[in-house]
Amino acid sequence: MYIDEQLTEGYVIVCGGHSDQHSFLVKNLSLSVQCPTCGEVALSVELATDFVMRQSGSPNGQHARINGTLIGSEA
Ligand SMILES: [Zn+2]
Repeated sequence: MYIDEQLTEGYVIVCGGHSDQHSFLVKNLSLSVQCPTCGEVALSVELATDFVMRQSGSPNGQHARINGTLIGSEA
């Protein structure tokens, strides 16, 4: 289970329980999050930590795109 996105309405959680990926919205992260579809429970701390780690690692993809645009405009 992981946080896919943070919205003003809450957090979009993606769950892969029962080998079927599904997502649901959580208004606020309490101690733990339970999936309404398969009942799997995850600790909010672990979800939040994983989310922050992925956020800080994501700029790499954006850099590649920016570089590609710069090279294109120079040529
Ligand atoms: Zn689930």
